[in-house]
Amino acid sequence: MRSVSEYWSSAARRAEPYAPGDQPGGKVIKLNTNENPYPPSPKVLSALREAVGPDLRLYPDPTAAKVRSTAAKLYGLSPEEVFVGNGSDEVLAFAFQAFFHQDKPIRFPDITYSFYPVYARLYQIPVEVVPVTEGFAIRAADYYRSPGGVIFPNPNAPTGLLLALEEVASIARENHGQVVVVDEAYIDFGGESAAPLVRQYPNLLVIQTLSKSRSLAGLRIGLAFGSAELIEGLNRIKGSFNSYTMDRLALTAAEAALEDSEYYSEICQKVIQTRTALLNRLEELGFRGTRSKANFVFAAHSHIPAKEIYEKLKERGIYVRYFPAPRINNYLRISIGTPTEMDALTAALADIVQHPHA
Ligand code: PMP
Repeated sequence: MRSVSEYWSSAARRAEPYAPGDQPGGKVIKLNTNENPYPPSPKVLSALREAVGPDLRLYPDPTAAKVRSTAAKLYGLSPEEVFVGNGSDEVLAFAFQAFFHQDKPIRFPDITYSFYPVYARLYQIPVEVVPVTEGFAIRAADYYRSPGGVIFPNPNAPTGLLLALEEVASIARENHGQVVVVDEAYIDFGGESAAPLVRQYPNLLVIQTLSKSRSLAGLRIGLAFGSAELIEGLNRIKGSFNSYTMDRLALTAAEAALEDSEYYSEICQKVIQTRTALLNRLEELGFRGTRSKANFVFAAHSHIPAKEIYEKLKERGIYVRYFPAPRINNYLRISIGTPTEMDALTAALADIVQHPHA
């Protein structure tokens, strides 16, 4: 295929699309896209079964009113302070369009979610990339007084490192007049959400997803919490793009999932326990991992290159994520699976480490 088509607009020519992790079919151990190893709540599945019926001929509620009020209750907010979108990737894309400017650079870390540079490029937002420390930590003060706003994940991806809530608050406080977007895709695996702070900081937008801790990656549900002013900004973009980004089944599942926090805290606890056990075992095998507060670990081996381990695992049907990017190209990001999957992983790793050139 030609690299540029004469039919493409300048946006299509400029685009450098995000490369998602492989979605292999068949019988593999899939630890490459941070899905939850446990199923959605039984209440979600039964609500979905009920929703499959004649009402599917009707359009869904374009305002997602029920989901917004259920989500608002989780953090003592009002429905006007909540936005619902088709996965948090969509909410992030809307936030770039609603709050960032083509003449003022935004800041994000050099090691972070690789979709941010993709959106910045597509929407022509200039960027000041801020290096994380040697140990991959985000330094809050580096983000103070950004010319055009700030975006970062907390915990960060793919490092899993968590920034303390006071530090998140300080970034919002020190960016008066600019929007600070905190992407909390992994917050339920060991962090404390900044959502309750949106009343105090009208420039703070907190984005979450039901893909990870609520086991619904397959249905595409993302949330944003922010001042009514910010939420209205997102609605202006959404209403200029697609009134019905959320289908009836996704809305039904989202509401049931947000109502069953008891089930989800239990599975998050299991993931956290498995993460601790995996990090210990990896250390015994010669890996050094970050102190991840997410549903993945980020680890490098003392002498075997990450790319080699990644390829050997793949040959054995075990998929993990490898990023051939500066500073992190000797690390693997491994999603937390079930204890049985972790046993298979660590057995394969033990074999690879013992026979590195086989
Ligand atoms: N933010 C971060 C940091 C992520 O890792 C992901 C998952 N790829 C997302 C957002 C998007 O998640 P989703 O669109 O499934 O809500």
